[in-house]
Amino acid sequence: MAETLTTWHFGTKEEQRVSTTDTIKGVVAKLLKDIDVNDKRQVIPLGKGDPSDSPSFKVHPIAEDAVAEALRSGEFNSYAPDGGILSSRRSVAEYLSHSLPYELSFEDVYLTAGTKQAIDIMMSVLARPGANILLPRPGFPLYESCCRLKNIEVRHFDLLPEKDWIVDLDGVNTLADENSVAMVIINPGNPCGNVYTYEHLQKVAQTARKLGLLVISDEVYGKLVFGDTAFVPMGVFSSIVPVITLGSISKRWILPGWRLGWIAISDNDCILKTFKIVDCIKCCLKITSGPATFIQAAIPQILSKTPEDYFENTLAILREAANLCWYELKDVACISCPYKPEGSMFIMVKLNLYLLDGIKDDIEFCVKLAREEYVIILPGITVGLKNWLRITFAIELTSLKDGLSRIKAFCKRYTMKY
Ligand SMILES: *Cc1c(COP(=O)(O)O)cnc(C)c1O
Repeated sequence: MAETLTTWHFGTKEEQRVSTTDTIKGVVAKLLKDIDVNDKRQVIPLGKGDPSDSPSFKVHPIAEDAVAEALRSGEFNSYAPDGGILSSRRSVAEYLSHSLPYELSFEDVYLTAGTKQAIDIMMSVLARPGANILLPRPGFPLYESCCRLKNIEVRHFDLLPEKDWIVDLDGVNTLADENSVAMVIINPGNPCGNVYTYEHLQKVAQTARKLGLLVISDEVYGKLVFGDTAFVPMGVFSSIVPVITLGSISKRWILPGWRLGWIAISDNDCILKTFKIVDCIKCCLKITSGPATFIQAAIPQILSKTPEDYFENTLAILREAANLCWYELKDVACISCPYKPEGSMFIMVKLNLYLLDGIKDDIEFCVKLAREEYVIILPGITVGLKNWLRITFAIELTSLKDGLSRIKAFCKRYTMKY
């Protein structure tokens, strides 16, 4: 019998739509693999940005009570409406409106399973053949993974370390063309810990307007600022350009496992409505599921009742932790620190490889550091900058001190002796 040859239609293997090493979790897991689990020495986790395991960053009881109450009421066991429970959407709209010169309505807010799902939905909405999206470098690798999976071309604009990590707007101008649909900013910044000024955001808005780009503003670290620059939401500039703001309770309320986030639409000139972007978001929300109904039901209490001193306490710890990183690392010869963080929970520092003996790049630095000192930090390449390092400082200050002194000892050991 003649053999028929089957042809498969999945595309070429070289298209590389899937990669296991391009997530932060994936890289951190790899670094942890080399650590001897029987060793008594404490591992210092400065890789992932999830402080929920640290006693200093405990959940406020208001949040726990709100969820328990919603759950026990027996009223929130059904499917939630697409886009979320109306009163919960309204509470997010009210929360965001405190910092805006206008009022968002509940109709401008859609609840999602964290910012991650909000990103996923926005990329689905914007994907079309030939489309490209402008992403920051360094940035948050989830955007790249998401675009790759949806066949959206990614173009990177630079953030400028010598200018407090502002957006290289000249770069944005040259990158954009008629197929560019949006640009993404992350403010306060991950991985750089930077906070954009009002004036800079205004320039971003004007540039985006000129180029016909929607601005997607990832404000998952919104209000997590502890330096001299105040947090200004991008939505303030929606009279210039349409803005879609993404956020969640994962970082400011330290509840990443509860999976509650949002998409907020600021579209003064109804541009997004006209081009059916809003309809498309609604359509995506019909296909997927958002956060669990009882978590949604707890949101109005969490947003309105968490006391200010809870946030102030978090910020005080982060401020001290950022200072500690800065002062400890800036005198280390093989590390350059261009910017002292003013927000989020990360610092980006540069490796001066020419001073190091036996370390060829950021990956080798992090692998050896994990193996020899049990300190986990993220190689810069993971966030788009080769031979830089991202250090998360949202952990117990005592652990952070320990981690920094181990990094310093490690650097000293590998610094070339003349
Ligand atoms: C943590 C993080 C997210 C994901 O947030 P979730 O709300 O937990 O899904 C998105 N963007 C950035 C920049 C982050 O740091």
